[in-house]
Amino acid sequence: MKIISIINQKGGVGKTTTVINLAAGLSQLNKKILVIDLDPQGNATTGLGLSNTDDSETTIYGVLNGSKKISETIKKTNFENLDLISSNVDLSGLEVETAGDEKRAFILKDKLLKYIDENSTKYDYVLIDCPPSLSLLTVMALVSSQSLLVPLQTEFFALEGLTQLMKTIERVRVNLNTKLNIQGILLTMYDKRNKLSSEVEKEAREFFKEKVYKTVIPRNVRLSEAPSHGVPVLVYDKNCPGSKSYFSFTDEFINQEFNMESVA
Ligand code: ATP
Ligand code: MG
Repeated sequence: MKIISIINQKGGVGKTTTVINLAAGLSQLNKKILVIDLDPQGNATTGLGLSNTDDSETTIYGVLNGSKKISETIKKTNFENLDLISSNVDLSGLEVETAGDEKRAFILKDKLLKYIDENSTKYDYVLIDCPPSLSLLTVMALVSSQSLLVPLQTEFFALEGLTQLMKTIERVRVNLNTKLNIQGILLTMYDKRNKLSSEVEKEAREFFKEKVYKTVIPRNVRLSEAPSHGVPVLVYDKNCPGSKSYFSFTDEFINQEFNMESVA
């Protein structure tokens, strides 16, 4: 069971869209996927067709406040091989509520380890949708993960936040989780008519080299329509440019995984 955080403290860069559609793409390839919505906004929850106003005890909040096990909060989605731990707005209170707990960064990790221990491993991948901040929730996700994936919007300012993000990742790696790897950087909302997009792409590839996926996600209105129907774009309109790009990203991701395994 590989745990991957989808992270960028900048808002609206395509984290949730990437979680939903990578999850959908992998599940269609018969991989068993658990999405954990770790954002109080609950966008991954509604985007997968579930409610983000459920009783908070049956959400990730119930897990992190200690009252529920992971297995008690997993919900089925309408999509085969794709389960979800939903989120709701109460999650935003967690940081204050756990202020006295010096081990709080490890709560999610401990719960996941317990799940793996008590259940014959059920998922191939756990994808964690992070909130747009470098808060406790994001640190919890990084502590729990083997790797992280950064969606990067190909617009002005996109690269500015990355230095801070890389510093946080390094700090977590040194102090809390030595196994943390960067899975890759995915360029999103690419507009080929806009020179800025290609400039950001060039800069990102020069700096992060082969860590940047070859697949680039274009700006595509179908991607923004799909969440209001509670379905991944891969289901909503599987032939649109957005879907094609997420299918090809899924393939690239799987090949990367295959190559990593054969090296290991
Ligand atoms: P937040 O930081 O608020 O959690 P996020 O990083 O998860 O945001 P998304 O919610 O995935 O970002 O995307 C932000 C908005 O842009 C959403 O309305 C989404 O539907 C839309 N969107 C995402 N990717 C694309 C794309 N490639 N083309 C067009 N619209 C997109
Ligand atoms: Mg989001």
